[in-house]
Amino acid sequence: MSQVTLIIDEKPITVDEGTFLYEAIRELGIEIPAPCRYPFLAPRPACRLCVCEVYEGKGPSKIVTSCNYPVKAGMVVHTDTQIVSEARRTALINLIQRCAPNRLLAELSVDLDIAQPDWGHKHVTCIFCKLCIRACDELVGAHALSFKRIGPEDTTPIKIDPAKCILCGACAFVCPTEHIHMEDIEGRPLQHHDLRLGPNAAITLSFRQAVPNVPRIHPEDCIHFEIGGCKVCSEVCPKDCIHYDQQDEFEDVEVGAIVVATGFQDFGAGAMKQYGYGQLSNVMSALEFEKMNNAAGPTGGRILMENGREPRSIAILHCIGSRDQNHHKYCSRVCCMYALKFAHLVREKTEADVYEFYIDLRAYGKGYEEFYSRILDEGVNIIRGKGAEVVPADSARKSEGDLLVRCEDTLVGKYREVPVDMVILCTALEARSDAKELARVLNISTGADGWFIEAHPKLAPVSTTTDGVFLAGACQSPKDIPDTVAQGGAAAAQAMKLMNKGEVLMDAAYAEIMEQFCSGCRICNGLCPYSAISYDDQKRVSFVNPAMCKACGTCVAACPAGAIAARHFSDDQIYAQIEGIFA
Ligand code: SF4
Repeated sequence: MSQVTLIIDEKPITVDEGTFLYEAIRELGIEIPAPCRYPFLAPRPACRLCVCEVYEGKGPSKIVTSCNYPVKAGMVVHTDTQIVSEARRTALINLIQRCAPNRLLAELSVDLDIAQPDWGHKHVTCIFCKLCIRACDELVGAHALSFKRIGPEDTTPIKIDPAKCILCGACAFVCPTEHIHMEDIEGRPLQHHDLRLGPNAAITLSFRQAVPNVPRIHPEDCIHFEIGGCKVCSEVCPKDCIHYDQQDEFEDVEVGAIVVATGFQDFGAGAMKQYGYGQLSNVMSALEFEKMNNAAGPTGGRILMENGREPRSIAILHCIGSRDQNHHKYCSRVCCMYALKFAHLVREKTEADVYEFYIDLRAYGKGYEEFYSRILDEGVNIIRGKGAEVVPADSARKSEGDLLVRCEDTLVGKYREVPVDMVILCTALEARSDAKELARVLNISTGADGWFIEAHPKLAPVSTTTDGVFLAGACQSPKDIPDTVAQGGAAAAQAMKLMNKGEVLMDAAYAEIMEQFCSGCRICNGLCPYSAISYDDQKRVSFVNPAMCKACGTCVAACPAGAIAARHFSDDQIYAQIEGIFA
């Protein structure tokens, strides 16, 4: 592409032919207002605030809108002359006379010395730039927005067709005056779990500190996968990383040892209807609260209710799904301490009262009991009694809090109702739903709760029944970060030990198939608990992999042809041992 050189505010710049003047101005780092410009839509000057003074050839200067004016060789441009300021002031006054006070135009009025803007409408902050409608038509392809006639008491000139709107939020995102809000579009306030990356949450990071920490697209939320439009993310990605036709791929990798560190999953609090999770506003899971607390999270670390206000009081309910005959009988071990941490953070960041509802507090680690004492000193209300129910507060108690937590205070032996604004449910850690499938693939075991089972709880706590497969972290049972790190280190050391040695010592005892007697019935193949027996298609007989065999004897006992023998455990050897014992 050929290039052109021009002068902007006395500075020469060379850009591609066809570049719009506004882009060249920005490339030099010069700021001029252009609120109705959106980089992924073709420029259409609606606000006329981006005007500049241009000299081309020998004629007089002219005023042009820079957002849609192509650069020309030898052009001389001024962005900040008297005539430019006057043109911008006139454009701004035109906008002000059509709409209601709003932050964007108020700030521009200050910049352009308009002391007392003469606002033209009581309610409508729209500047009629049409960006929202064009984004919906041209980027999203939903064609859900149009203008309508407005009267003096109307609040918006934008008409939304609910049958076509897909709630993507693109219109709210591009609107320069914040005239459109998600609440207007959807008719409901934003839910806490909606507050993710981007207006429609189609691209998210799994969580902060995820490995690899890269965003991923959710096809079920993505406009492109829904109706084929948008593709903005692929245009803005400087590394050309986004390919919509990419498919999942499977790779075979040969390894000498495996460390299983698949972690846990969060118990779905919705399963316990009595707590109103997913039904009542401001009832959230501990993981959601943790995300909100994160400085890089959706609220910048501020603790806010769905209406954007700080809560006056917060209830933290322990043991949701743990220590419960109907769900998980075990204790999740980590929640007591993170619940106390939440109480500390709430007291530190807000003025809210905090109520902790617990069965009994399990502060068993180093420094944990001291931390518990500190929380008591901070004025947190600790109530011994499991939260039984969360219900909306009735009108008599609404002034104290929107929600009521009901419980039996077992220390004083009384039924209590505590009004609060927000409820945090400390949900159980549970084994991943796919743990059994992985256990089958790796030939290891899971317990009744679904956690992977170690070879021996004291002597081999990170090993499994399959040599070379080790366990690390919360896939084995609920555990906190220090325990997880310790177990991960132990599992890694065991794997390194194997790899450093470079060879595996096999047990002398293993099963052997006598080919001449094997009928190829394959009964033993399915019976071996260690998957050590395979079938040889060419020889039409089964064979044992000695490295995997544990000499359990299952196949020896099961073989109808008597074709399998355990080395060092032949019938003659066993009879000899018995005779030796009784001799
Ligand atoms: S750690 Fe505390 S809150 Fe969590 S299940 Fe055990 S007792 Fe309940």
